[in-house]
Amino acid sequence: MALDHTDEEMMLLDLVERFVDEQLMPLEPGCIERVANGEPLALLPDDEARRLALCKELGLWALDAPEELGGAALPARVMLPIHERLSRTVVPFRFPPDSPNLHMLMVAGNDDQKKRYMEPYAQGEMHSNIAISEPQAGADPAAMLTRAERDGDEWIINGRKIWISGAARADFLLVMAVTTPGAGSKGITAFIVDTDTPGFTIERAIPMLGGIRTYELVFDDMRVPNANVLGEVNDGYAPMQHRLTSRRLEIGGTCIAYAERALQMMCEHVQDRVVFGETLASKQAIQWWIADSQINLHATRLMVEDAIAKVDRGDDIRNEASMLKIFATEMASEVVDKAMQSFGAMGMTQEMPLFLMSQRLRMSRIYEGPSEAHRMVVARRTMAEYPTT
Ligand SMILES: Cc1cc2nc3c(=O)[nH]c(=O)nc-3n(C[C@H](O)[C@H](O)[C@H](O)COP(=O)(O)OP(=O)(O)OC[C@H]3O[C@@H](n4cnc5c(N)ncnc54)[C@H](O)[C@@H]3O)c2cc1C
Repeated sequence: MALDHTDEEMMLLDLVERFVDEQLMPLEPGCIERVANGEPLALLPDDEARRLALCKELGLWALDAPEELGGAALPARVMLPIHERLSRTVVPFRFPPDSPNLHMLMVAGNDDQKKRYMEPYAQGEMHSNIAISEPQAGADPAAMLTRAERDGDEWIINGRKIWISGAARADFLLVMAVTTPGAGSKGITAFIVDTDTPGFTIERAIPMLGGIRTYELVFDDMRVPNANVLGEVNDGYAPMQHRLTSRRLEIGGTCIAYAERALQMMCEHVQDRVVFGETLASKQAIQWWIADSQINLHATRLMVEDAIAKVDRGDDIRNEASMLKIFATEMASEVVDKAMQSFGAMGMTQEMPLFLMSQRLRMSRIYEGPSEAHRMVVARRTMAEYPTT
């Protein structure tokens, strides 16, 4: 990304780049092999512990957490390029904590919740994720059925969530539940739920593409203290959207990183591989793949830079985030697909990072809202700008 950075920021970005090259890239073949053998995409515990210890030592920790929690409070202008560098490899590693939940706690948490949850979370001592989707409500989360009913100083939550990432290692989840039935998005509240709460069960792990696991959760008369209502009752939707927006920006960064790497692999390969007496690079069909990939990659970078500039000055970027999510995921899916095609049978193996990129990108067109739902909201907003006369 061609963003202006200070010397200090450039040093940080260089450090991240070196961390990725020296600490993560060597782990990539092992991760790929484990997924090819049917195991989850994950680091071995020792490898992960060593990387975590090292990045804590290097200060690659709590980078966007507020300063009062020991973080560096870095803006999106720096965080997105960091995320992009980390996404150059398919090795699943992030500098703690998982930022999108942090952002939701930052906008909606009270002082007590910040102390109990945000502080240890920002320090990487706790894991967390968000539970929105349900078997009958995904793209349209306002149709969710999980119900929370007030009982004195507590809420009793009953329901079921599905496709929840990271639930098995989460210490707490942000659980969205209906508090006013029939009110749609205006009747949904966010709860901070400790995963050891009685009545909370992980019913099953679901194997997804790319070695990913999601989880189905059941809440059976699960009692959550009123002190764990995140934000206002019936007003959980807005902070949830805030969280989803941060995540959609990150997805843009991941797509750029995957597409850049796939494009590089394709360019190197086609200049080397000879078919019908000539290099693949000399064929116009292949040149057009490369040109189109580069053009779309460039357009995505500009979209990300535009979104970053707006988010850092506090604008509402829900529309930009939706457009970016659609464009970036489709762009990167196409570039990776062309790269796989250019490698022929080699591109169909489970021995290169391309198959993992491809499978992960396929899923990115579903999670954080499928492309069609985003197109619907972009169309609605666009028509609202140009109403019928
Ligand atoms: C890998 C992965 C991780 C996930 N992690 C989480 C998580 O941590 N927490 C969580 O809460 N959820 C998570 N999800 C769930 C995800 O957010 C939902 O799957 C997504 O919102 C779509 O919901 P659905 O699967 O119920 O599909 P549905 O809502 O049934 O939609 C099915 C299809 O219908 C089409 N469609 C939907 N809306 C429209 C429309 N308006 N116009 C035209 N067509 C439309 C789309 O093609 C869509 O794919 C995850 C999903 C995946 C794949």
